[in-house]
Amino acid sequence: MCSHKRCRVEEQHQDQGTATRPEEDAIGSVKDAQIKTCPPHTGFIGGLCFTCGKNQDEEDFTGVPFGYISEGLRLSTLEMDRLSGSEVKNLLRERKLVLILDLDHTLINSTSLHDISAAEMDLGIQYAASKNDPNISLFTLQGMHMLTKLRPFVRKFLEEASNMFRMYIYTMGDKAYAIEIAKLLDPGNVYFDSKVISNSDCTQQHQKGLDVVLGADSLAVILDDTKKSGRSIKKT
Ligand SMILES: [Zn+2]
Repeated sequence: MCSHKRCRVEEQHQDQGTATRPEEDAIGSVKDAQIKTCPPHTGFIGGLCFTCGKNQDEEDFTGVPFGYISEGLRLSTLEMDRLSGSEVKNLLRERKLVLILDLDHTLINSTSLHDISAAEMDLGIQYAASKNDPNISLFTLQGMHMLTKLRPFVRKFLEEASNMFRMYIYTMGDKAYAIEIAKLLDPGNVYFDSKVISNSDCTQQHQKGLDVVLGADSLAVILDDTKKSGRSIKKT
C-alpha cells in the first residue's frame, strides 16, 4: 500500500469498486432467478405479479384468491403449497393448531332490528345495546340495523384458545358484517388481525373450503353449527 494520502484514497476507491461486484452479481442472480421462476407466476397483487411485475390481464393465470390477507391478492397453487408448508412448520414449532370459528349460532347470535317485537323493545333491548359499557354483550351494528349478542364468556374463551390455536373467523356472512363482529369479539385486534374470512373469500359458492386457510389441511379444528363446514377443496 502506498503511503501517500491521494494514493490511499485511490486504492480505497478501487477496493470499493471490487466490493460492489458481488452485489451486482447478486442482483444479476436474482434477475436470473426471477426469469426462471416466471412463468409460472407465483401470484398477483393489484393486478401485477409480485415476482416479475407482469400485468395479470396479459397472463393466463387463475390462482386462488386471498383477498382477506390483502385486497386483490391471488396465489398460484405452488405458492400456496409453499406457504402452507411453511405455516405448518411454524405451527408445529409453536405447538399450535388452526382453529376455524364460525360466527352465527356459534360465537354470537344476530337478528335484524326489524324482527324485534314491540314487547322486546319495551323490555329495553335496544337501550341495553346502546349503553357505552365495555362489559356488555349486546350490541347494535351501526348502519346494518342488526342486534348482536355475544355468547357468554366468549372473550375469555378466545383468550384461552389463543394459547393453543392460530384462530380464524370463517363465516358465510358478508365481509362488512364479519369485520364488524370481529371488532366486537376482539376489540384490541389481538387474535384475528386479517384472519377474517367471509363469503366473498370462498372459492366455491356456499361452501367453506379449507383451501383459503394456509396450513389448515393437516392441522385444523373447526367450531361451527353446520356439518358442511370445512370441506377440503381439491386444488386444481
Ligand atoms: Zn411473474
